[in-house]
Amino acid sequence: MLRLALPNKGRLAEQTLELLDSAGLALPATSERALTARVGEGLEVLFVRAQDIPEFVADGAAHAGVTGWDLVVESGRELSARLDLGFGRCRLVAAAREDGPVREVADVPAGARVATAFPNLARRWFAEAGREVEIVPVSGASEVAPHLGIAELIVDLVSTGSTLRVNGLREFATLLHSSARLVTAAAPAPAMAEALEDLVATLESVVRARGRRYVMANVPKTALERIPAVLPGLNGPTVTAILNSGAHVAVHAVVAADALASTLRELKALGAEGILVTRIERLTP
Ligand code: AMP
Repeated sequence: MLRLALPNKGRLAEQTLELLDSAGLALPATSERALTARVGEGLEVLFVRAQDIPEFVADGAAHAGVTGWDLVVESGRELSARLDLGFGRCRLVAAAREDGPVREVADVPAGARVATAFPNLARRWFAEAGREVEIVPVSGASEVAPHLGIAELIVDLVSTGSTLRVNGLREFATLLHSSARLVTAAAPAPAMAEALEDLVATLESVVRARGRRYVMANVPKTALERIPAVLPGLNGPTVTAILNSGAHVAVHAVVAADALASTLRELKALGAEGILVTRIERLTP
């Protein structure tokens, strides 16, 4: 039985379950508040705090886990990040009061106090930057620390940046880019190797498919030479005959979702008709 540790709440929890669902690994409805759940024959899911997942996976309590890269790095545990899942994107930044003197790391005075829920990452980063600081560990809401006089600086996650702005803080450095990752032990148990590879491949195919669409269009045969420039596809577009239409052929290809508007415009300019766009469930090149 492969054990997979997933966040039980917080920002990553919902999107992690959505990803599993898209991969055909939907949890049984009864598992909503359970600590563990069985998915199919070979997978057991453990719901734990995102912060604890690096520890669980490194210790072998779970064979794989989904958690934020920031938490993996902060944990200091040696894990293998197998897959960037593409959600939970944020940055770990250093910030100071907007009305204060610190505009870059060189301005940080010796002995400055840094409030953060990421003490290991912050300590290492300031040391590497050659600044001597005092780390003030907090468990959250570090943004208020500069106003309470607990610290001059903070190191915290930002996604939109609005929390920093509301609290009158200005970021002056990015320490780390983060997103949700699928992690395994650096040396996973050999008995689990095959099941782990299957899980990685399944989730990878879903993540890859999310950013792509499948486009089908009927195009005039006379435009066929110019189609690969618009619809390169994975190995060039698939071209098939259309019954009762001697002048047209059907072309199918995978395209980047974010390039869809220009692809459709260019197809139309080549005389394409009956254009269909569909989502892709999984894509393995
Ligand atoms: P924002 O105002 O969008 O920059 O969000 C900042 C707040 O959300 C801070 O309290 C952060 O600690 C938290 N935050 C932002 N992104 C994440 C994330 N991916 N994971 C956990 N906490 C986050």
